[in-house]
Amino acid sequence: MPKTASTAHVRVDIRRNDTVKVITGRDKGKQGRVLRVFPADAKVLVEHVMIVKKHVRPNPQRNIQGGIAEQESPIAISNVQLLCGSCGPVRVGHERRGDRKVRVCKKCGTTLEK
Ligand SMILES: [Zn+2]
Repeated sequence: MPKTASTAHVRVDIRRNDTVKVITGRDKGKQGRVLRVFPADAKVLVEHVMIVKKHVRPNPQRNIQGGIAEQESPIAISNVQLLCGSCGPVRVGHERRGDRKVRVCKKCGTTLEK
């Protein structure tokens, strides 16, 4: 099966538990921890970013109180950047360290792996 044009060239440099900063959009400037990555959609779920309010019906049988619940929704990967400990939001490069490929900060060259 041929890959569709929209997914063929998407390279995801962001992984779960990374800290990213939102660089554009409604939540510009916010930063948070990546909770989930959706490579097929080129989206990530980031803690405290893109909060949507959901109206919840009370359900006494399941002990759910009614009201408004807040929940994150996925944001496009192109709208966030990985944070380098010393430079802030940066572009990600790749380098081979031994037999491992690691992500590096394009500004200062330090590895971004924990
Ligand atoms: Zn750096």
